[in-house]
Amino acid sequence: NAMNITQHIERGCHLFPDKPALIFEGTTFTYAELDRLANRVANGLRDLGVHRSDRIALFLPNIPEFIISYLGILKLGAIAVSLNAMLKSSEVKFILDDCGAKAVVTTADLVKNVPQQDLPQLKHVLIAEGTASEGTSLAELMANASPSARGVEMDRYAPAAIVYTSGTTGFPKGATLSHGNLISNSYSQQHCCGMQADDRILLYLPLFHCFGQNAVLNAGLNACATLVLHRNFDLTQILKSVTDEQITMFFGVPTVFLVLLNMDLPKDQLKSVRFYFSAAAPLPTEVAQKWYDKYGLVIHQGYGLTETSPCASYNHDYIYKPGSVGTAIENVEMKVVNNGKEVEPGEVGEIAIRGPNVMLGYWNRPFETAETIKNGWFYTGDIGRMDEDGFFYIVDRSKDMINVAGFKVYPTEVENAIYEHPAVAEVAVYGVPDLEKSEIVKANIILKPDCNVTEKQMIAFCAERMAAYKMPKTIKFVDSIPKNPTGKVLKRVLRDEAANEAA
Ligand code: ATP
Repeated sequence: NAMNITQHIERGCHLFPDKPALIFEGTTFTYAELDRLANRVANGLRDLGVHRSDRIALFLPNIPEFIISYLGILKLGAIAVSLNAMLKSSEVKFILDDCGAKAVVTTADLVKNVPQQDLPQLKHVLIAEGTASEGTSLAELMANASPSARGVEMDRYAPAAIVYTSGTTGFPKGATLSHGNLISNSYSQQHCCGMQADDRILLYLPLFHCFGQNAVLNAGLNACATLVLHRNFDLTQILKSVTDEQITMFFGVPTVFLVLLNMDLPKDQLKSVRFYFSAAAPLPTEVAQKWYDKYGLVIHQGYGLTETSPCASYNHDYIYKPGSVGTAIENVEMKVVNNGKEVEPGEVGEIAIRGPNVMLGYWNRPFETAETIKNGWFYTGDIGRMDEDGFFYIVDRSKDMINVAGFKVYPTEVENAIYEHPAVAEVAVYGVPDLEKSEIVKANIILKPDCNVTEKQMIAFCAERMAAYKMPKTIKFVDSIPKNPTGKVLKRVLRDEAANEAA
């Protein structure tokens, strides 16, 4: 049962020592180099007194040091805790306190948001980029440490990483993922997507999030592929990189595909790409269809959560059903539950997931863990249905469902209908409290440039496509829609804004 997720980089180093594992802003790291650098981090941390099971936080943007530190921490058997690089001081304090981090790896820019004096358990601050008056230089620590080491053999159930949910639905909780979780899910992801050693994978999704960290980084390393890392999502840089680096696999979130479609790029701009993947939020069917019409390739949808490492289902090539997030991946079970019972195909209910990808639990939160994992089944809070062939369809998040005088309205369904309007660039539908109807439907819409549509025309467009109770009562034309770093619309923010406007 002994294992360590970092066996992937060690295997890569053994099989393809000179092959590029990582390319970042013109610098290439081969598999052998990446492995040696990770060993230096592991040995350097050990020299500082870091042990197995200690929590080491990564408060970093997408830079090579994130990956090197992550691998080093895991090799040592310590636990890598990743934090959204956009968090402010009080939010960083909450998480470092919550997990009892012994050290944090950060940058000279971000260190101001690490309130060291308020964190008695935090013994070391390592600066991975830039020079800061406080903290120890990561480069120096590494320079003084040995480049050779093997990953410590860990139990399948030993915690490897704590990934904090972004909290679009509340306060952050640390999903604790074991070595077994990460290994099983990153291999499933690799197999589903058919990642191979000669693939060049674009990686701009945040590494602090489970999607970038396990579904792209760890899966790509399993495949001994080349990862082309970007600090963030800069459209010009991304498009240049696709051509310059001859990217073959493109992982994204729905907004990214939407933005690219709205840009009206030449058809052959992305010609090196053979595979597209979208997850983390609903992919409007209209977007998937237009993508296929233009590029002749489907966008494979995956579905999952941080708590499921993240992938739970995948829409394959051989039977591709538009609008579906596919079938449960290997060794994973999924079902739809209503009132405590599994429902018949076609019926709507809460999706539950069981398998080797389900997290150990929320760090230090036995109560919340027991509330969401029952008999091994993780209850997702997502509403969905399964068809006769075992394909799943996500209807919406239960927390975003709108209750109009007792009628359930699923915002995603209304959004999909509005996306059919040729002038719409982006839309977000949400509910606001209403005395009479308990909630009413509102939509924020970004129009494409030079398009003019009135609220009345848009409502008339909706009237042709949906039952009256689902129709937005008011429409607000806006310039932007607030999103979290993985492209999820922050519906909570929209609801709060609408409440403030009403007050
Ligand atoms: P929080 O749970 O606090 O909002 P988060 O946004 O970081 O934090 P994640 O684990 O990133 O949480 O998101 C998981 C959610 O993303 C799922 O519960 C589901 O609602 C949504 N999701 C993921 N993939 C898809 C998909 N293909 N289609 C629709 N929704 C999806």
